[in-house]
Amino acid sequence: MIFENVEIIDPEGTYTGTVEIERGRIARIIPKEGTSKYLLMPGFVDIHTHAHKGIDVMHASNKDLWRWAEANFEQGVTTFLPTTVSAPIEVLENLLASSGPLPPSVAGFHLEGPFINPTKKGAQNGQFIFPSAGKDLRRLLEYPVRIITAAPEIDGFEGLCARCCEKGIVLSIGHTSADYRTMQEAFQTGVRRITHFPNALTPLAHREIGATGAGLYLDFDIEMIVDGIHTSPEFVDLVYRIKGADHISLITDSIAAAGMHEGEYELGGLPVFVSGGKAVLADGTLAGSTLLFPQAVRNFVRFTGCSLPELAKVSSYNALKVLKDEGCTGKIREGYRANLVLLDREMNLLQTIFEGDRVYTSE
Ligand code: FE
Repeated sequence: MIFENVEIIDPEGTYTGTVEIERGRIARIIPKEGTSKYLLMPGFVDIHTHAHKGIDVMHASNKDLWRWAEANFEQGVTTFLPTTVSAPIEVLENLLASSGPLPPSVAGFHLEGPFINPTKKGAQNGQFIFPSAGKDLRRLLEYPVRIITAAPEIDGFEGLCARCCEKGIVLSIGHTSADYRTMQEAFQTGVRRITHFPNALTPLAHREIGATGAGLYLDFDIEMIVDGIHTSPEFVDLVYRIKGADHISLITDSIAAAGMHEGEYELGGLPVFVSGGKAVLADGTLAGSTLLFPQAVRNFVRFTGCSLPELAKVSSYNALKVLKDEGCTGKIREGYRANLVLLDREMNLLQTIFEGDRVYTSE
């Protein structure tokens, strides 16, 4: 497979050239003079997605996960983490136990809850939240769990940190009413990540900058739902100016309604109503998103005016770094795995390449 005369967008820079792919890898890159109307970028990575096109990780069979992976290729997503919501530990254990063998684009799971603060539950089902991590997680952590979102103020957080560290699982702070001091302590313990910043975090105030202030002030990596609903364009730009593109990963946080018609759906046992692209619980609380990844990419560039290499960082490279997978994906280099997206200059997705195979072409 050859991509002739494309603009190559790598986290480190951009130039025009021809990219040859052989046996699932980028075999050769030949730089050329000139410009191109096509952009070749690393495939998108979504490390926080609950569901897509009616398939919800909480009810998904193994076959559903494979269908989800196929459907995600239509969105340019070549790596993702199906993300659970708060549920009894046995339910999560059974869900993970029956999930395999996983499609190759599923890098594992993100567990969002149940060890979060019930006062910051957002759209999570309060019935299944455990504000204490003193549970036996041995069986649960035998499965490919890559990220756990938890609140640092819960009982047993330090033990959870130690357990995650031992297992190579990334602990991400979320659904928290932590003050700045608590966030600082978590940072000193080694926690470096925040989930769907600044949603379900304590807000920034001038005498107590809260978890939101800590996210901006300390060297945390953050993920953001850039749908123009969870965060305003100005807020996204403000965060980009403070943190820079190196610390932001785009996520969809999508629910089953993503890629579907509007109407009534479900999240963690709670009814969700989708209208005007907005998903809410009966009381109006935002309940995940219907965002599709290419839209998040277009929104981010529109809201911030970031460069194309920066866009490759927020849409792919940074998330792969979180997954400690930056060695062979997330860059366009010879020898790297050919997980790529081809876009036009308006950032419309034209093709998705997964391990050297063309897995999606737009009409
Ligand atoms: Fe959440």
